[in-house]
Amino acid sequence: MEYRADLHCHSTFSDGQLTPSELLYLAKKVGLSGISITDHDSIAAYTEELFDLSNELNIDLLTGVEISSAIKEETVHILGYGFDHKSRELKDFLARVQNKRYERNISILKKLASLNISIDETELYGDARFSHSSIGRPHIAQIMVEKGYVKDYKSAFNLYLKDGGNCYEVGEKFLPTEIIDFLHKCKAKAILAHPQQITKKKVLDALLEMNFDGLEAYYGKMMLHQEARWVRLANKKGWLITGGSDFHGETKAFVDLGSSWISKEIFDQIRSAK
Ligand code: AMP
Ligand code: ZN
Ligand code: FE
Ligand code: FE
Repeated sequence: MEYRADLHCHSTFSDGQLTPSELLYLAKKVGLSGISITDHDSIAAYTEELFDLSNELNIDLLTGVEISSAIKEETVHILGYGFDHKSRELKDFLARVQNKRYERNISILKKLASLNISIDETELYGDARFSHSSIGRPHIAQIMVEKGYVKDYKSAFNLYLKDGGNCYEVGEKFLPTEIIDFLHKCKAKAILAHPQQITKKKVLDALLEMNFDGLEAYYGKMMLHQEARWVRLANKKGWLITGGSDFHGETKAFVDLGSSWISKEIFDQIRSAK
């Protein structure tokens, strides 16, 4: 079977439903040859055991992370690839990102409380299921369902938490340039994630002038004509082209692991560029 690597998925260390090792087993089952687990603002998935398992299963494991940044009110996700998973510098930096996440979650809980949806900070941060996770809106949504405030996960987003929703809060985030510079300091590649999700043209134009190493041209179940646009752009700029499914598990049931992927040639370029 041809070489396929899915470079975008989430584990239980952020808002995915499978543990990192379960992701590797699933990758094997669906015939992937390479994978990168890109949790939101966390690299906790990368342990020696995980690298051992990837060797055992003969799957190429590339270190990855998806870091949240923002320009004005627009969230921009940046993928970092190929760092040393033991990097103290990177862990300390992600701890700073986590602090910002915490402040933002608290503001979201306050907004919910003003609408009589009461979730206490300890319900979110004291929940053993989330104790190692990069906590965010998905976890708040899950508690809202469990406490009966909404009928399902999707409604929690549609009614309250979606971008620009009643209880949405962009939070204090780093600027994309700060994240890019930091990733470069850690000798990692900085890739603009799912560029088609950027809603403001001005923001996209600004991003395309930044010092990224590449962009995620293949994403989830994007249509071929949409992909072509980003492939063209990346080629024009001489940027790397990456791709992945953004698999989360049941909560995003419409994307399967391996539904977007890149070839061996691109995988090696990303792993060894610069
Ligand atoms: P956060 O990092 O806290 O902003 O949460 C972002 C995550 O929330 C995304 O990766 C998705 O898993 C989920 N999410 C964002 N918007 C929606 C939506 N409209 N419906 C369902 N899930 C969403
Ligand atoms: Zn997510
Ligand atoms: Fe994302
Ligand atoms: Fe993602």
